[in-house]
Amino acid sequence: MKETILHIGFDDTDSTKGMCTTFLAYKIVEYLKKEKVKFLDYPYLIRFNPNVPWKTRGNGAVALKISTSKPVLIKKNIIQFITKHSAVEDGANPGLVFYENKEIPKHFSEFGKIALCDIVSRKKAKEFVSQNNLESFYIGNGQGLVGAIGAIGYGFRDFTYELISYRHESNFGKKRLIFKDSVKTMQKATFPQTFNNFDESKDRVLIAPHGPDPVFFGVRGEDVDSVIRGASLVNSKEKFHGYMVFRSNQGTGDHLLTELDSKNLKPFSSGFLIGKVLEKPKIERGGHAFFSIDTDGIKTNCAVYKPTGLTSKTSKLIKGDLVKVGGGIRKASKNHERILNIEFFEVLKLEKNLVSKNPICSKCKKHMKSRGRGQGYECKKCVQMSQNKILKEIPRDLEEKLYLPMPSAHRHLTRPLQRINRFNTTIKFDNSKKWFCNPN
Ligand SMILES: [Zn+2]
Repeated sequence: MKETILHIGFDDTDSTKGMCTTFLAYKIVEYLKKEKVKFLDYPYLIRFNPNVPWKTRGNGAVALKISTSKPVLIKKNIIQFITKHSAVEDGANPGLVFYENKEIPKHFSEFGKIALCDIVSRKKAKEFVSQNNLESFYIGNGQGLVGAIGAIGYGFRDFTYELISYRHESNFGKKRLIFKDSVKTMQKATFPQTFNNFDESKDRVLIAPHGPDPVFFGVRGEDVDSVIRGASLVNSKEKFHGYMVFRSNQGTGDHLLTELDSKNLKPFSSGFLIGKVLEKPKIERGGHAFFSIDTDGIKTNCAVYKPTGLTSKTSKLIKGDLVKVGGGIRKASKNHERILNIEFFEVLKLEKNLVSKNPICSKCKKHMKSRGRGQGYECKKCVQMSQNKILKEIPRDLEEKLYLPMPSAHRHLTRPLQRINRFNTTIKFDNSKKWFCNPN
């Protein structure tokens, strides 16, 4: 029978109360395995702009790429899965698209790129669906179509993997009992091939969520073998139901690659700006730091929130420092102006911290005293005199480097320190790896 290549994308099936788009993907792959389809890549888990206001948890969409001789049946059954398992009553707006073609045209990845750092309206998504003759399905307002389109055509500049394990249904909602020491050991044993498993500074396990969703834990890393090995080293009282490995844009920092337009900062957009610090940052109520930068004569307000762990470093900035700041634009409200919420900052050039002091007597090595306004300075011991103050350079307690939030404050897309200058670019799929594990 004739085989056809089918791309499947879906998004926004989850809610804060339960369900999870990746779990639905796991159930769909379980079904597709029974249909004996041929998988052409690992499932994609794509995170889009984390600064959109209506995201559920991680603004993550899923895409699958398969080859099958019975696309009609498969599409029908996937629609049923989405209908049955989406948390629509809790506010999910699921979207699903199918695209039957070997190659995906470039404008799909361009669409995905916009969804990564900006807001894409559902109207735009619906237009895209009709212009490209996509088969689509949605419930609610159709917001999920944005991620569904973006995920199937996602243009990876770099990628990582995540193995996500799922709980037995009888455990949903119960506390996850994972042995902390095993996660620490796993982190040591697999570094640098896995990342963000454990936050040493907070003594906190990062692999497990805390909500009622079906996810047990997730291990992120650079290759399939490492995330499988990492997961095998995690000890817990609970045994997981099964797992699936995703190819992902997590840990790539790709949402902050676009330079923002300081003259026109769009609310909820993500990106970076380069500018000179206009004044020493102020620490305000709650321990958050605020300052502003100047980019080509335009002032931008920046905020650094306490949980990022970055405030002690940002507070050491001074007027004149040249910085690159990345983050999302918070909408202006009655009480505050439009502001860039910082997700990283990089000191490009430190200004000299010069303070003016009274001159020093060359003989006695003591600071002179002022003789009164406009009358210069004199040494009280030997009466030596001098007209002008001197400038003294204070050493800076900051370096010309990149500063990131502590791992527990990382977003899914944050590029961790260990991934700086590390890029996975060759898309390869090895179906002999145990990327899907399920007892059925
Ligand atoms: Zn003197």
